[in-house]
Amino acid sequence: MEVLTHPKIVHKNGHEYWEGKYRICSKCIYNDKIPAITFDENGECTYCRMVEDLAEQYKTGTPEGEAEWLRIVEQIKKAGKNKKYDCVIGVSGGTDSSYMVAKAIDWGLRPLAVHYDNTWNTAIATENIRKVLQKLNVDLYTHVVNNKEADDIIRSFFKASVPDLDCATDIALAETLYRAASKYGVKYILEGHSFITEGVSPLGTLYMDGKYISSIHKKFGSMKMDSYPNMPFWTFMKWIIFKRIKKVRPLWYIDYNKEDARAWLEKEFDWQYYGGHHLENRITAVHHSFYNPVKFGVDNRNNTLSAKARAGLMTREEALEEYSTKPHMESDLIEYFKKRLELPDEEFDEILKQPLKSFRDYPTYKKRFELLRPMFYILAKAHLVPMSFYLKYCFPLGEKKTNK
Ligand SMILES: [Zn+2]
Repeated sequence: MEVLTHPKIVHKNGHEYWEGKYRICSKCIYNDKIPAITFDENGECTYCRMVEDLAEQYKTGTPEGEAEWLRIVEQIKKAGKNKKYDCVIGVSGGTDSSYMVAKAIDWGLRPLAVHYDNTWNTAIATENIRKVLQKLNVDLYTHVVNNKEADDIIRSFFKASVPDLDCATDIALAETLYRAASKYGVKYILEGHSFITEGVSPLGTLYMDGKYISSIHKKFGSMKMDSYPNMPFWTFMKWIIFKRIKKVRPLWYIDYNKEDARAWLEKEFDWQYYGGHHLENRITAVHHSFYNPVKFGVDNRNNTLSAKARAGLMTREEALEEYSTKPHMESDLIEYFKKRLELPDEEFDEILKQPLKSFRDYPTYKKRFELLRPMFYILAKAHLVPMSFYLKYCFPLGEKKTNK
């Protein structure tokens, strides 16, 4: 199968359309194929508005935003007094997380780096983690899953025909971070997420929760879930309500330029770039560069490219031009995927052709998150869950979202 191409925009009835039929935002490159998208009188989309609202609320990149972040740093130091570490930071070997560890040291914090090894790491990622942590003298806590079990879960998601092929890695990282924090009595998790450089990924293109993972694995898997660190609802509640472990995102407050950060990492740590957002891990690379574009016609590069257009780091035309190139992928990646998952060509092609499904077709916690929306709003305000969790998980699709 061929990877989709993305023709230029055409003008029709005073609006702009992609492929001649999908209306496109006047500020970023999102179009109305994206779930829950609407356009305002200026033609700007829901997600541009969401990012604008967040920037206003967090005063991102302004002196007030920076001052607010430094106040949080003082709280982190206070909460971590007399403990070996005062925060934990998930590391993947990618730009944002590597930068986060280095910045934490600058702020005078004592981080413990945490890595969830899904056994699909690229050699570059493993080396990047080692180089940065060694130079900064930061300890590493790692959870390695049994590789057969990891593959069984990935194969289950592939067979389930849902777009969230690799969401098991994200849930496992979240759980590993909580376990590490709990083990050392740490109250703060620093996350390297930036809504300015990544946007807020639209619901419907990526969903994850602990029940989604166990229900799909139960239906399509063949091994017992044993070494995989899943996060059922009550475990999630234990971490946020009883242990009160907070998640904070420094890049929501401070000025952050990803290209500058990358250049700085290369210079300071002999750190190496791996070719694109999320490509430091082989399974995330399959997910973003092959599986989603080919099976779902969804190319997740539109998140970072839209973010760049929004932030004025590239023009919308430049973003569309880059979007129309084929996603970067190692040449033998798909062969590696088939071989590891023991999927003969015929079976692989057949599964790929099966009808599209989504998280709505399997048991998840989505309805429960919606019912508990007021509670999650309070938890988000107290930094116990990210505000983006509240906005993405606690509203039914299509309902107007507000963080006010
Ligand atoms: Zn937009």
